[in-house]
Amino acid sequence: MFLQCWVAMAEGEYLKYKDPKQPLNTRIKDLVDRMTLEEKIGQMVQIDRTNASADVMNKYYIGSVLSGGGSVPKPKASAKDWVDMVNEFQKGSLSTRLGIPMIYGIDAVHGHNNVYNATIFPHNVGLGATRDPHLVKKIGDATALEVRATGIQYAFAPCIAVCRDPRWGRCYESYSEDHKVVQAMTEIIPGLQGDLPPTQKGVPFVAGNKKVAACAKHYVGDGGTTRGINENNTVVTRHELLSIHMPAYYNSIIKGVATIMVSYSSWNGEKMHANRDLITGFLKNTLRFRGFVISDWQGIDRITSPAHANYTYSIETGVNAGIDMIMVPYNYTEFIDGLTLLVKNNAIPITRIDDAVKRILRVKFVMGLFENPLADYSLTDQLGSQEHRELAREAVRKSLVLLKNGESADKPLLPLPKKASKILVAGTHADNLGYQCGGWTIEWQGLSGNNITSGTTILSAIKNTVDKDAKIVYQENPSLDYVKSNDFEYAIVVVGETPYAETNGDNLNLTISGNGADTIYNVCGKVKCVVVLITGRPVVMLPYVDIIEGLVAAWLPGSEGHGVTDVLFGDYGFSGKLPRTWFKTVDQLPMNVGDSHYDPLFPFGFGLTTKGVKDTY
Ligand code: BGC
Repeated sequence: MFLQCWVAMAEGEYLKYKDPKQPLNTRIKDLVDRMTLEEKIGQMVQIDRTNASADVMNKYYIGSVLSGGGSVPKPKASAKDWVDMVNEFQKGSLSTRLGIPMIYGIDAVHGHNNVYNATIFPHNVGLGATRDPHLVKKIGDATALEVRATGIQYAFAPCIAVCRDPRWGRCYESYSEDHKVVQAMTEIIPGLQGDLPPTQKGVPFVAGNKKVAACAKHYVGDGGTTRGINENNTVVTRHELLSIHMPAYYNSIIKGVATIMVSYSSWNGEKMHANRDLITGFLKNTLRFRGFVISDWQGIDRITSPAHANYTYSIETGVNAGIDMIMVPYNYTEFIDGLTLLVKNNAIPITRIDDAVKRILRVKFVMGLFENPLADYSLTDQLGSQEHRELAREAVRKSLVLLKNGESADKPLLPLPKKASKILVAGTHADNLGYQCGGWTIEWQGLSGNNITSGTTILSAIKNTVDKDAKIVYQENPSLDYVKSNDFEYAIVVVGETPYAETNGDNLNLTISGNGADTIYNVCGKVKCVVVLITGRPVVMLPYVDIIEGLVAAWLPGSEGHGVTDVLFGDYGFSGKLPRTWFKTVDQLPMNVGDSHYDPLFPFGFGLTTKGVKDTY
């Protein structure tokens, strides 16, 4: 029935909003004027894919669907499986009275990381180390193509948090402790969305169906919480908030970011999801953000004070604060009923609803969703393409930070010789693609092992790089006696942190995982060794740094392990610079460049260089 209704309308009456020749504002107004309250409220709702179906999209006029951390249509789903699923939901939306397309969002935060066989780029902390906005823009471009290859039009990226305390479990999602580095890295936005035409500065912009809507997150101050506790309270003055945590939002808006996600955290005790002054006042009115503001996952549910707060109160407060699209993965009917009643009771003015809907529609119109709502299969071969893997490999090379190289500058250990009789490779992280990729890879918390997706581990890359007659011995945690009794020319020890995401990554100790420290002790000192750290942040190194001859921070490099060996073996030089201060002991934390108690093991910006034979940069 509804399908007929839509077709009748499309074929009959001239609908201004469907005419791409009409000015954007005319189309938006025409459409909003036609919408019922039910249809408007539906636009504001984003549900989880597990709750979505063509019928649900149609029945509730749902405006958006998401894949929450690692939610996939089926294990190892192909690009085609994804397109099939997204299109099915889209058909439901198109079959509504007004045929407003839905938009599908996913956490593509280091490449299209939920998707099997996608290219996994280094996490943001590594990209911060490259100090290369142009490269990061290309990564945005490649990520957009891979996301579109699966029919998806919206990425919940970039995270532009300024992580001020590495104890925070999301520190690796932050480009740097320094807002200027984070600001520079907002170049990923034109990569994801396309270049804003010069005449259009500051308006949401997505250049057609090879690009995606981006999402700067998490607004604002997520990286400044006390002791780095996730979702906690950021206790800073307004001046600090505006000068440290806000600047990258300004850059993002200028570059046309389509959406901004609100942070779970609080600022001086007030939940950001309830903060009308910062969302409506500052973001929308002062900074003139014209895209839509989205809540975090069940974000409004966290508005739990004052004492009388209940779900209705949370909806009222969040929507009145200025949140336009609300992530209600599961309890969407409760949300819809609640919001409808609040509007009917005048607790939320209809002008607020109209503002939200106009912003959502603006993004959908701008990106051409009305003209091209359904994905075809023409981009499926972009997923994990060779070209994107080469780009990821380049990013890995440029992200590595050389912290120590031999006893002195005239006796460097690196680059390592490819010609060697016997090389020891050790450590839990040498042959583990899951560890190499970190959290937000295939699953929300990340995984362990080599079969999680396609890619190359550091061990495989070493084997592919050294001379064919060099013997590689891999021992995950060799004993001291074993190391002593063998005549290794040198050793490469790859250790670090095991994957985590969000609160699970909060960590007050910041030590190397598992038996990593033993491996360092057993290997280094007995044989010349380079330690490669696979971590999302600086970890305790003070006790070992003297016995290690070469030390490399490789962050969470992703699927292309060859990027590490390109630099270790001197095809390319080391060029990365620390995006964060490397502390000596955790009791110094928080400690950021500029602090009066600044006494780091390696300062912000530190990074030794080497020359590579293939260097062109
Ligand atoms: C995270 C966001 C993410 C969202 C959707 C939340 O838990 O805080 O960064 O975009 O989930 O998956």
